[in-house]
Amino acid sequence: GAAIKFEGIHKRYGSSVAIERLDLDIQQGEFISLLGPSGSGKSTLLMMLAGFEQVSGGRILIDDCDVTLLPPERRGIGMVFQNYALFPHMTVAENIGFSLRQTRTSKAVIHDKVSKMLDLVQLSGFENRYPQQLSGGQQQRVAIARAVVFDPPVLLMDEPLSALDKQLREAMQLEIKSLHDRLGITFIYVTHDQREALVMSDRVALLNDGKIEQIGSPRELYDRP
Ligand code: ADP
Ligand code: ADP
Repeated sequence: GAAIKFEGIHKRYGSSVAIERLDLDIQQGEFISLLGPSGSGKSTLLMMLAGFEQVSGGRILIDDCDVTLLPPERRGIGMVFQNYALFPHMTVAENIGFSLRQTRTSKAVIHDKVSKMLDLVQLSGFENRYPQQLSGGQQQRVAIARAVVFDPPVLLMDEPLSALDKQLREAMQLEIKSLHDRLGITFIYVTHDQREALVMSDRVALLNDGKIEQIGSPRELYDRP
């Protein structure tokens, strides 16, 4: 996993401030949740880390390397979104292998890696299905496999379970937590569901109005007498 440092990060959209002089240190291999109401700046923070939004001020470091000006593809970050964003005309195996096919990786290596990913998310046997032939939970597992197939040191997840019903959501929370344990990489997880953040994370950062209001382990934040 990678260590991540946000140093004095500022983000304006026109005249409105989305993130205000924010500092945040994320440890190697940590599972941290960004929790907060809609509009508090969670997605903006993820998008700046991934490189899809530019910062208005401040620096972002990944393992002490300043990535503030690097394009997304040079930051080596995996991402999973709420609406899966799978390619509908590609099979499960093709979806998972997609990012490796953009590189010089050989077919044999891709095949091997895709098989490992299918195992990892328990979808062996589903490799030739199309996304619309899968349940919502299975689709999200494909999206996760696709995001970690190139061994990124960091995985970002933006409300990945909010489209699923309650029962499936709880099962997937455990799956994602177990995946984190097995991969040992840094997970940054955006949610507006307090229970979800508490169940899953090593640490929770509570955002409000573009600022971190509180940060700590679930116990530190919520078990105080
Ligand atoms: P969250 O993910 O917590 O819901 P966002 O990061 O999406 O919050 O939004 C933070 C603030 O930035 C909000 O006030 C939102 O309206 C504003 N914002 C986000 N994206 C844009 C954009 N592309 N243009 C203008 N304002 C934006
Ligand atoms: P292509 O379209 O390149 O001829 P395929 O359609 O067979 O290849 O597969 C697309 C991608 O998915 C390839 O990268 C391949 O390695 C991978 N792949 C296909 N089937 C499997 C499988 N059963 N297990 C693992 N990887 C697979």
